[in-house]
Amino acid sequence: VADEFDIIERLRKAVAPRAGVEVGIGDDTAVLRSGIDDDPRTLVMVDLLAEGTHFTIPPATPRLVGRKALAVNLSDIAAMAGRPESAFVAVALPRARGEAFAEELLAGIHELAEEFDVCLAGGDTNIWDGPLVVSVTLLGRPTGSGPVLRSGAQPGDWLMVTGPLGGSLSGRHLTFTPRVAAGQALHATVELHALIDLSDGLSRDVRHITCEQGYGAVIEAAMVPVHSDVPRDLPADERTRRALNDGEDFELLLAVSAEEGQRLLSSPPVGCSLFTVGAVTDSTDRVELLWPDGRREPLEPHGYEHRF
Ligand code: ADP
Ligand code: MG
Repeated sequence: VADEFDIIERLRKAVAPRAGVEVGIGDDTAVLRSGIDDDPRTLVMVDLLAEGTHFTIPPATPRLVGRKALAVNLSDIAAMAGRPESAFVAVALPRARGEAFAEELLAGIHELAEEFDVCLAGGDTNIWDGPLVVSVTLLGRPTGSGPVLRSGAQPGDWLMVTGPLGGSLSGRHLTFTPRVAAGQALHATVELHALIDLSDGLSRDVRHITCEQGYGAVIEAAMVPVHSDVPRDLPADERTRRALNDGEDFELLLAVSAEEGQRLLSSPPVGCSLFTVGAVTDSTDRVELLWPDGRREPLEPHGYEHRF
């Protein structure tokens, strides 16, 4: 009968060696080393997904949940224009769902780790009678001139996103491509003033790079790219609102000077799509939505929020 140790042993054998990970799965701690040419700074983030709050099975599968648990972290590293390196996975596995479930979950993590050249370097495996909980810690390195922060946007900057928004909860939230390549390519091409990934919805997340820095923003409704996952039979205004508020898009939102924005539009980095959605303004703490007929309304932050 399979226990925690069989699961870990199978995982250990499946993980490819990596230069920066001197000791990975199997000892009391991992031993990591940064490459000689690397930026010595380390990017670290941790995220937790709990069954019932962040997903339910079905419609999600354990494999897709594992995938997402790592993907959301990759998206955060992308939002620093970073390069992911090693991951640590802590799981509380529901006993009643059995061993195959556990293997599927870890396979989902392992597959995406390989795809993004991330070394699974450690973790903690628990089996309990509660729901599935999975937490991934991801370490990475800055690229180019260093990490790109949420601060740094200036009034007059363009706000751009790397893909269409909305409707993610119909399935894309489990299968999205973290914009790691786009983050690095953008950082290598232009001077990014601010960068963030869209997890809670544009209407909420835009505030982190504008209002929280003492500025405001105007979003042009007609320029917000609406994903084809948003039902086509909805009125156009409602489709735009879905794109602004649904969340879990995991596209990048960037602020760049107007000149750099022009440059990006005329020659975007290979494999990176870009849409201008608005601009940073000096109206403190105010985000406005501008409709094509000239109507302006306050854009309230509507994305998902955890509350007690
Ligand atoms: P300890 O009791 O010393 O914490 P464990 O038996 O919990 O050791 O873990 C053994 C090794 O397996 C450690 O290197 C740990 O990091 C790794 N590990 C445990 N669970 C996972 C997991 N789900 N994914 C990756 N590595 C894991
Ligand atoms: Mg342990």
